[in-house]
Amino acid sequence: MSTEIEKIKALAESAECSGNTLEEVFARCFLAAQKELDITPFDEQLAAALALTKGKMVQMQTGEGKTLCAVFAACTEALVNGGLTHILTFNDYLAKRDYNWMKPIYDAAGVSVGCITETTPKEERRELYKRQVLYCTIKETGFDYLRSFVLFDEEPYFPEELNFAIVDEADSILIDEARIPLVIAGDVAVHENGGMDEIYEKAAALGEGCFSVDEESQNAYLTDAGADKAEKIFGRDMYAVGSEDLLAKVCACIKAREILKEDKDYILKDGNIVLIDEFTGRAAPGRVFPGDLQSAVEAKHGLKISSRGRIMGSIALQYYARLYRKLSGMTGTAEQSREEFEKIYGILTEVIPTRLPVARIDHPLELYYDGAEKRKAILAAIKEAADIKRPVLVGSESISESESIAADLEKAGIKCNVLNAKNDFEEAEIIAKAGERGTVTISTNMAGRGVDIKLGGADCHDKDFVVSVGGLLVLSTSPRESSRITMQLRGRAGRQGDVGESRAFAALDDPILLNNNLKGLAGRHYPSEKTKGVLDDKVLLREAERVQRISENNAFEDRVQLMKYTMIGEKHRDITFKRRNSLLNGSYSSEFWQKTALYEKALEKFPEDELQILQNRVLAALLNEFWSDYLDYTTYLREGIHLTQIAGRNPAEEYNIACEEYYESAAASIAERMEEKLRDVLKCEKLSDYEIDKPTRTYTYLLNDIGEEFKAKPVLMGMLSDDYESAAAKLNDDNSQKSGESDKSAETTEKKGFFGKLFGKKK
Ligand code: ADP
Ligand code: MG
Repeated sequence: MSTEIEKIKALAESAECSGNTLEEVFARCFLAAQKELDITPFDEQLAAALALTKGKMVQMQTGEGKTLCAVFAACTEALVNGGLTHILTFNDYLAKRDYNWMKPIYDAAGVSVGCITETTPKEERRELYKRQVLYCTIKETGFDYLRSFVLFDEEPYFPEELNFAIVDEADSILIDEARIPLVIAGDVAVHENGGMDEIYEKAAALGEGCFSVDEESQNAYLTDAGADKAEKIFGRDMYAVGSEDLLAKVCACIKAREILKEDKDYILKDGNIVLIDEFTGRAAPGRVFPGDLQSAVEAKHGLKISSRGRIMGSIALQYYARLYRKLSGMTGTAEQSREEFEKIYGILTEVIPTRLPVARIDHPLELYYDGAEKRKAILAAIKEAADIKRPVLVGSESISESESIAADLEKAGIKCNVLNAKNDFEEAEIIAKAGERGTVTISTNMAGRGVDIKLGGADCHDKDFVVSVGGLLVLSTSPRESSRITMQLRGRAGRQGDVGESRAFAALDDPILLNNNLKGLAGRHYPSEKTKGVLDDKVLLREAERVQRISENNAFEDRVQLMKYTMIGEKHRDITFKRRNSLLNGSYSSEFWQKTALYEKALEKFPEDELQILQNRVLAALLNEFWSDYLDYTTYLREGIHLTQIAGRNPAEEYNIACEEYYESAAASIAERMEEKLRDVLKCEKLSDYEIDKPTRTYTYLLNDIGEEFKAKPVLMGMLSDDYESAAAKLNDDNSQKSGESDKSAETTEKKGFFGKLFGKKK
């Protein structure tokens, strides 16, 4: 036991904890946990809590009591450092549960606490954001951050600086979902969907041979034959200047038709497309496919094509998390992603040992020839357990897989609970009962994460029986993108030293094994003909395990790669958002109008102080417009970014240069646009007659953006000609002369982007 923990416990024992040092605050929470919740915190929990106060990523197994650890760290932040804490939970259900559960401790410690969920009204949020500790999802608070960027007439309710976040189930939020952007759109200038219905219908003629699919990015491209045919159908050369938009729509239609599958990638619910999260396997309401793809999928099902207004702001969860001055997290599986947490978030991982030894038996991967063989084995395992009334939790890959297993079980006369696409609250209830005698629960990846599975039911009334049949059995139906996700699933069994067992299945035709070339890696060890039962070739098995590590590394590399593209936009967003806030809260005043010849005239007509207030507001509105243009431009760049690879340039660098140039030239145009606005103001009788352009309605949603376009291989190979190479080389020469000896960063911004030249400026 560390001396710090000894000291805390000594203080608690002597009830000397009225002061506000870290140890005293810890001791106070310790006593409150005993008194209010009848829980005596374990040393491991104190150690984890201490790590959280230091801004670390804490690995602590499922069921070890992480919820309580966060309370110690949050109270310390409030009472010792005087700062606010957001505890970011996995979903709304857990935000509410943890808030209600822990509130008595906060009350006893004298720390104010609140909770925000999707349904919390805006008026209440203002006050809630002032609480010392707030439980909410990263999505809710991230949306509030974006909303503060489009607010006009009300006092902002979102804190100006974000202080401390404790992210629960941190690997899921900070790694698996990190790239998901939150988006806010407004009805300032509603986008036309450009006849997607008609395009979709016409694109039906572009069948086999007309398109190819990029394995990695899962995007569809027209082949030469396809482009010829499309030209006939649409009466336009697909690759001509001005056809970019149509080409993008046609490719989106093909992807919607050929690649995206109902019940795997999305479900239809009340006439809407609801995406399925690829990691949790759960319905993700409020999320949409990027760009034209959403309308294409809607056209596929003959749904009304939705209009989403103009995007006014967006932020990936990853960057939102990085806005906090101090960030920490907790999860059952952090160790495997130690490097990523450090590289991307700059936080160190600390592994807390389990309080009791882990008694769960984790069996090595079981490999089968194909899906059918694998299914037989899975069903046999379930049946074996069901026969002795042992509870089983099956973690499937998709909703359709869950349903097909359930159908097989029904045929075999085995009852089961299928858990997917329902709401968090119902799911939590089903999962909480997954440890009861004779229960078979089938769920996708991480449904019900954060909910404890107690042996013998939520109140453990039947624990002895369930222990006697071996505890909970967890089955993972296929390897996932990361072994961390399989580990997370295995960890649902064997909580707090319970008995339990986990088995992981794989078939040679599982996507992860196919896409990462297991066949090539295993060579002659790869079975040449159908084999029954489990495959036991050691080399083959070793390679199958290695394939998952390869996939894991690729995914990590992709995320690092994506960051090289997205950092620049984050920098620009940060400057723009801050400037806008300071204009509205009065800490900064615009002086564009003062510099124009019209200003004298304006002063004759209007009082100076009112004119200044209006100027600040007009500039704030202009910054919204500016930012929407910027987002449009960068989307446009991203769609063509692979082109620079052809010319042997570094696309990430080109992208950064192009963004920087656009930002600067657009910023330089603001003076002129402000002058135009002043001219409009002068036309008004009274200042109050002047109407600022602002959205009357805003919408928030999540994009399913994983930066596919950055992975896209150059498709327009036809453009690879000497001309391009020499043009690129020439640009290189120009740069080397110009930048001379200047340091690296200056060089980057000074460079004239090849990309910018290739495409020119938009508009
Ligand atoms: P985790 O988030 O680590 O999976 P939870 O915070 O959900 O774990 O807690 C799991 C269970 O452990 C809960 O039922 C909780 O009441 C119980 N628990 C937590 N801490 C203690 C403790 N110190 N003593 C006894 N039970 C505890
Ligand atoms: Mg938890």
